[in-house]
Amino acid sequence: MSKDSEEKIETCVLCGKKFDMNKAELAYYRNGKYPLCDYCAEFYGFYRDDLI
Ligand SMILES: [Zn+2]
Repeated sequence: MSKDSEEKIETCVLCGKKFDMNKAELAYYRNGKYPLCDYCAEFYGFYRDDLI
């Protein structure tokens, strides 16, 4: 079963870029609510635990 057709487009709260949450590898929801793209998730990843 392929899930390639499923998209979950989100807008990164930091850079404003739109991305597909289902295809992004590092992207996540900061505080369970604010989407971060791959780039920002990597950039801010080191403080991820502090922010939650
Ligand atoms: Zn971003």
